[in-house]
Amino acid sequence: MTARILVVDDIPANVRLLEVRLLAEYFEVLTATNGPDAIETCENGKVDVVLLDVMMPEMDGFEVCRRLKSDPATSHIPVVMITALDQVSDRVRGLQAGADDFLTKPVNDLQLMTRVKSLVRLKSLTDELRLRASTTRNIGIEELLSRNFATEETTPKVLLIDERKSSVERVKKMLRDSADLDVVGDPHAGFFQAAETSYECVMISTGFADFDPLRLCSQLRSLDRTRFVPIILLAEEGEEERIIRGLELGINDYLMRPIDQQELTARLRTQVRRKRYNDQLRASVTQTIEMAVTDGLTGLHNRRYLDSHLQTLFDRAVARRRPLSVMITDLDRFKSINDTHGHDGGDEVLREFARRLRKNVRGIDLACRFGGEEFVVVMPDTDGVVAEKVAERIRAEIAQMPFAIGSDGKAIEVTVSVGVSSVLKGVDTVAALMKRADLALYEAKSGGRNRVVAKAA
Ligand code: GH3
Ligand code: MG
Ligand code: MG
Repeated sequence: MTARILVVDDIPANVRLLEVRLLAEYFEVLTATNGPDAIETCENGKVDVVLLDVMMPEMDGFEVCRRLKSDPATSHIPVVMITALDQVSDRVRGLQAGADDFLTKPVNDLQLMTRVKSLVRLKSLTDELRLRASTTRNIGIEELLSRNFATEETTPKVLLIDERKSSVERVKKMLRDSADLDVVGDPHAGFFQAAETSYECVMISTGFADFDPLRLCSQLRSLDRTRFVPIILLAEEGEEERIIRGLELGINDYLMRPIDQQELTARLRTQVRRKRYNDQLRASVTQTIEMAVTDGLTGLHNRRYLDSHLQTLFDRAVARRRPLSVMITDLDRFKSINDTHGHDGGDEVLREFARRLRKNVRGIDLACRFGGEEFVVVMPDTDGVVAEKVAERIRAEIAQMPFAIGSDGKAIEVTVSVGVSSVLKGVDTVAALMKRADLALYEAKSGGRNRVVAKAA
């Protein structure tokens, strides 16, 4: 795993110390000796993880962290605070400033590496989502982030898997105001519960009499439904080895007992915030892809979608020796509808036309807005005779019932012309099929409009 780590400390010897250890693990290392330089490096370069000293003159680590986390351009970069004081209050301050983790000086080697690797792994997931969201950009990352901040304060749904009653009671009390907590004692039941409900964090106790908690962690990581749910391990003092193995398995964080309430709520908040951020990115990617193949006015597929799918449907029909037909529809004298009723009136006609079109085709048919007032329907498993009947039904449905537009529901007469073509056995191509439908449409127009012409096989 190669990644770029930024080490920030006002004492050059400390920087060197961490640098040498990270270089030995083949990380790329950048350095800074003050807050403003660190922020600039994060803004400019591709930093994967920041190791940030807390105590620095002028701008301390808390402030640097706060600034990084409040700027949408850098807020996704994981920050690990490094403090000389092994004090819970400092850790909590760090987490409240948005830090993703902290280490105390002198930094334990194994802990440093496992923590850094775990954060790098998380970061690469986020990076990929960000990349996909921005390359097919429709929604800006910044807008996404601001939406994220708006939802941040809703109470997260959390699952605690812990069989010890006293520990459960304590955690319940601590999270009374900050989580909507479900509790399961049995680890097997806990696994199913986690898979069936969408939790924003799962906390797993290591204190089972007869069960390896890491088995549960790895099961949750291998199941699709729970792959991305943050896992926090509640461990005992002296279980360092187990925690490190847990981090390698993909747990996101851990707490040592006795659990400090502030630390628990702060760590939980960090995990939930990160999950919500990634969930929104993922949703945005999906939405962006949908928007890219959907016509905004009518909600039908657009031409881009048709272009990428018609060939597939055509090949499939030829391979299976099944019929396939297409129709091209074009509204008659649409320009004069626009001229008489305005562009908005024209848009309403297009929407209503799309609605009637959708109503009259089957689910497996592919209905698209081809452009302007032209629509295409691809009909798998449909021969020319049937396709012509479908086209005629649509033509009649448009002509028979006037379109109501505007706030006063003014009724206007609309008609449509349709060209139909079907795949010819033997040599045929998508281009030839579309060309024949287009010629048929032209004949329907020149023959007087409001009619169907079929170029059957
Ligand atoms: P024909 O019967 O020969 O098809 O005549 P027509 O007026 O329908 O055809 P023409 O291609 O000359 O005009 C189509 C018009 O459709 C021109 C264009 O301004 C309008 N148009 C294209 N896209 C939209 C749209 O999204 N909304 C609206 N309101 N009008 C559109
Ligand atoms: Mg037209
Ligand atoms: Mg036209």
